[in-house]
Amino acid sequence: MSFSVPFTAHEPCNIPKSYRVLASKSVERETLSSSIEADALVVGAGITGNTLAIHLAEAGKSVVQLEAKVPGWGGSGRAFGSVVPCHKNTEPAIIRHYGEQRGTRVIDAIAQGPALVADLLKRHNIDAAFDSGGWAFGAHTKAFEKTLQKRAEYWQSRGADVEYLDAQKFSRLIGSDYYQAGIVDRRALSINPLAYARGLFEAAHEIGVSQYTNSPAVRLKQKESGNWQVATPHGKVECQNIYICTNAYTKGIWPGLEKGFVPVRGWGATTTTIDSEVLADILPENHFITDTRQLWSGIRKLPSDQMHLGIGGPAVRTNGKADLKTASKRLKEVYPSLKSIEWKESWSGWIAVSTDQFPRILRLANGVWAAHGYSGRGLAMATLLGKELSFCNVESDLENLILPVEKLSRIPFHKLSPFGAAMLLRWYAFTDYLGVQNR
Ligand SMILES: Cc1cc2nc3c(=O)[nH]c(=O)nc-3n(C[C@H](O)[C@H](O)[C@H](O)COP(=O)(O)OP(=O)(O)OC[C@H]3O[C@@H](n4cnc5c(N)ncnc54)[C@H](O)[C@@H]3O)c2cc1C
Repeated sequence: MSFSVPFTAHEPCNIPKSYRVLASKSVERETLSSSIEADALVVGAGITGNTLAIHLAEAGKSVVQLEAKVPGWGGSGRAFGSVVPCHKNTEPAIIRHYGEQRGTRVIDAIAQGPALVADLLKRHNIDAAFDSGGWAFGAHTKAFEKTLQKRAEYWQSRGADVEYLDAQKFSRLIGSDYYQAGIVDRRALSINPLAYARGLFEAAHEIGVSQYTNSPAVRLKQKESGNWQVATPHGKVECQNIYICTNAYTKGIWPGLEKGFVPVRGWGATTTTIDSEVLADILPENHFITDTRQLWSGIRKLPSDQMHLGIGGPAVRTNGKADLKTASKRLKEVYPSLKSIEWKESWSGWIAVSTDQFPRILRLANGVWAAHGYSGRGLAMATLLGKELSFCNVESDLENLILPVEKLSRIPFHKLSPFGAAMLLRWYAFTDYLGVQNR
């Protein structure tokens, strides 16, 4: 078997400077320019690839890691930075999807996500977590109060540090009376995702992973021995197992892999530095906010005294600009004390959204594995699946993994999926708008 497709850089935007200044470690490695061998090849240096590389090396494997650009170039270096202990789908939906037994394991594993991230940060001495009281999740309309109350009760019954707060208490927590009510989830983390991804990359290097940057995997070939040979523009790697950890940044590396999800462009923006007296009353305990709307609603304070928002922008095109006008309106609605808002930078990144929002571990061929489809909740999930992938190899028993190992399934009429995604996002924007108007 042999596939040859050129790597295409389809990311029009740089990694945010707001993160780069806080993630200063050197991350350039040499370009692969020779033929080498290893037990395992990890393709991609985002959170999935870096966590996987660490776990494989810790298990005693010789590991090569290839990154097309620099570590954190993908979603991992561009994310909003909220590490939350729950999935986009509700817990009953998770049980329906995976069945009672596996579904319960999945819910538990996701709930442990922030703890898993915190453990890696601590173990590898990575300075990426912001000082934060956790996640403040607001009800943007009255109708959602009951939903949040039930959600808090569910997690409390499982012993989690989650509390439902009425309008007054929630307002005190976040320094704004915008919301009807909310819950505070103290398990969640607020991180600099680029510093996390790069800290993991450094940690993998320290435990012996051979890393190459600006070295895209462009061609995969199976040899008669069963081993795989992967070519980059100037070198080759031969190995028994390949792990494709390119998520939404996958382009042509394996036939049809990018047809397993819909690429959606997410956006973020940071303000210029804000006067510390004004900031003192905003998010006084550094919680990060999201709310019950369908579209981007994240607001947090960065240690650099900037506000950081998850915002809108063109969701399926590679051109166009962030919607800073709507972002300013939202920020002023929630925090009227911010009289004039100036934006320092905005950026975007690609998200791999699966049609059911569930992530996938894939066995593409004997010895070729992938994980993708985090659907915008990848910081903890990529950490978890990086670890899970380390148990996948030609000889392993895959039954004990948390997620099932699946075959690649392509979304029918995938070429039309950007139109479908654009329509759905417009519908969400409309229902969010109606909700806010009638609250
Ligand atoms: C704007 C935005 C906001 C987000 N906010 C959040 C959030 O708040 N919380 C949350 O949980 N999740 C969030 N996410 C999602 C999260 O960032 C991703 O799910 C997660 O980072 C995916 O990690 P990854 O390692 O699988 O992929 P990525 O980080 O995308 O890494 C893939 C890597 O593969 C490399 N690559 C691609 N092709 C090749 C090749 N041929 N050879 C070698 N290397 C290659 C790329 O250069 C890239 O570095 C957000 C995403 C975006 C874009």
